[in-house]
Amino acid sequence: MTNDILAYSINSNKMDKANLLKLKNNLQKRIENIDKELSAIASENPLVRGDFDVRVDNLGESQEDTAQEAGELDRQQALVDALERERKEIVATIDKIDSGKYGKCDNCSAEISPNRLRAVPVAALCITCASQKR
Ligand SMILES: [Zn+2]
Repeated sequence: MTNDILAYSINSNKMDKANLLKLKNNLQKRIENIDKELSAIASENPLVRGDFDVRVDNLGESQEDTAQEAGELDRQQALVDALERERKEIVATIDKIDSGKYGKCDNCSAEISPNRLRAVPVAALCITCASQKR
């Protein structure tokens, strides 16, 4: 999983500049990978940046395949949606790094604990707010 890869970029309790740069680098690499994965199976909506839909042009015409293809389409769209969500979280996280707000809760502005950031580097909420939203 992505978070496991990203977790290695935070290896000390202190969120210093070098760690943040490393994390930002890893996040940008992850976005490149997401874009590659997305463009392989989906087309970006020309009007909405970051909004992707599965391409249907390469699906066959024959009747027998239709049900199977509908299932495959659902599966691919679910994957596309998950990648889009992850992309948005990463973009928001990079914005927070750039504006010096990384590690602060979006909701209550408390410091998000280093343990939580290690486990979920794109966490936007502190553990208290995250558990209340569920
Ligand atoms: Zn909070």
